[in-house]
Amino acid sequence: MFASAFDGIKNLLIGLGVTFKNMTTEPETFQYPEVKRDMPSRYRGRHFLNRDENGLEKCVGCSLCSINCPVGCIHVVAAENTEENRVSPGERYAAVYEINILRCIYCGYCEEACPVDAVVLRDHYELADYDRDTFVLQKDDLLKYPEPNQFRVNYLGNTSKV
Ligand code: SF4
Ligand code: SF4
Repeated sequence: MFASAFDGIKNLLIGLGVTFKNMTTEPETFQYPEVKRDMPSRYRGRHFLNRDENGLEKCVGCSLCSINCPVGCIHVVAAENTEENRVSPGERYAAVYEINILRCIYCGYCEEACPVDAVVLRDHYELADYDRDTFVLQKDDLLKYPEPNQFRVNYLGNTSKV
């Protein structure tokens, strides 16, 4: 009986401790949309496609991102690079690269599977729109923002702007 009474008092004090701690802590209120929150480095938001230091698209159209996507929301069609039309440093490039971000679950598997760090998920979280078609991102959309859109992925899978 004493043990359960002691546990009850202990839990009550822990609960009160949390309450008092929050009473003395400044509230974290952001004046959104004027003030945007800095997202944690591991946050996975909107996708982007990287370019290399020469301005070529890093994506080599291998479709590993698409194969590893658990919901099948990436569509890649590869084409051969030629001397007259070199788009990526590899043999092939993505002639079509689409992501349906309405189906995406932001798991980051595509980013992990990519052998050349071409596709990355960044901290862009303002994705709302009125038109469903805008949620199927085309390659041009993915290559656009931010400029220069070059990121590196560290051994933990975190991306950071180069
Ligand atoms: S984050 Fe996950 S669900 Fe979204 S495109 Fe990449 S692999 Fe597919
Ligand atoms: S983004 Fe990466 S994994 Fe996907 S097709 Fe391009 S090179 Fe391959």
